[in-house]
Amino acid sequence: MNTIVYHIANDEKEYVLEEAAEIIRSGGLLAIPTETVYGLGADALNGKAVLKIFEAKGRPQDNPLLIHIPEAAWLEKYCEDIPPLAYRLAEEFWPGPLTMILKSRACIPSETTCGLETVGVRCPDNEVTAEIIRLAGVPVAAPSANRSGHPSCTSAEQVMEDFAGRIEGIVDDGACRVGVESTILDMTSTPPKLLRPGGLSLEDIRKVVPEAEADEAVYRQLKEGEKPRAPGMKYRHYAPEAPMTAVLGGGLKTADYIKKHIKAGEGVICYEEYLDMFEGYECRSLGREGSPEEHAGKVFGVLRSFDKTAVTHIWTQCPREEGLDLAVSNRLKKAAGFCLINV
Ligand code: AMP
Ligand code: MG
Repeated sequence: MNTIVYHIANDEKEYVLEEAAEIIRSGGLLAIPTETVYGLGADALNGKAVLKIFEAKGRPQDNPLLIHIPEAAWLEKYCEDIPPLAYRLAEEFWPGPLTMILKSRACIPSETTCGLETVGVRCPDNEVTAEIIRLAGVPVAAPSANRSGHPSCTSAEQVMEDFAGRIEGIVDDGACRVGVESTILDMTSTPPKLLRPGGLSLEDIRKVVPEAEADEAVYRQLKEGEKPRAPGMKYRHYAPEAPMTAVLGGGLKTADYIKKHIKAGEGVICYEEYLDMFEGYECRSLGREGSPEEHAGKVFGVLRSFDKTAVTHIWTQCPREEGLDLAVSNRLKKAAGFCLINV
């Protein structure tokens, strides 16, 4: 299969959007830009099309997909028993990196929900993708556009590395603004529960829902036999090829610890300020220590870049669990398979 890359900046926009929408309508796979990461999209109402997503990604069949809609007005077509609070959150944060788990209607096939009675819905903050969904006339089911278990893609070039020749098209709208996936909030529990930290901080959600709490699995690994609230919590995730260790604590202390323990042939992810300490090693910057936006924007590109090297092990500094850094530290810990050292 020849994968067509649609360059929004260059091509004739109207024609491109129409052709991209036609891929969705006809049951194909289309990689779409969003403000978080690139998504691998298909018609969420077409079970056969949705199955192709699982196949292309190598995604476990019990890990349901989120659906993407262009505006909150579409919510009641696909969800029922929607609490008024969901509309308040939509008004405050949509379009934007918030996914809400709601009771799904029967029109959403079990291929999309993996047999659950709920569905995750989000409204991405990307005009190109919103327009494609409007033109297609159906919600678009889309997980992150990466091979299952690997780091997500924040550019169309990275999506090409994983899916060239295996999907119908990629819409290239440049680098993703946020860089980590959406925040998932389960609206079917009281109070609403954060299942995955992401581009919208828990602190921001609490301005509207003061009692919102994060699920324990956001901070730690599930124990043997423990049942996850979101199916995706089960798997080692976002992981580069090389095994990884995350070192938790202050910037200087953790850099010192890594410097003491790193061996030849190993790699480092550190804040910009500590790059000098690791000359001679494969070293990547996570951005300045005090800038969560830089960490989020860089984390997946950095993780993916090690797969092009021969490093045998990766050491990473890990930001504190607050604001947007809660999502960054969650991704790094999961990429490390929860191999953590506190210093
Ligand atoms: P991804 O598709 O890679 O962005 O991941 C989507 C995440 O949403 C996964 O962790 C899924 O397990 C989770 N998810 C999707 N649908 C539901 C649902 N109905 N209830 C709980 N978690 C869900
Ligand atoms: Mg993913």
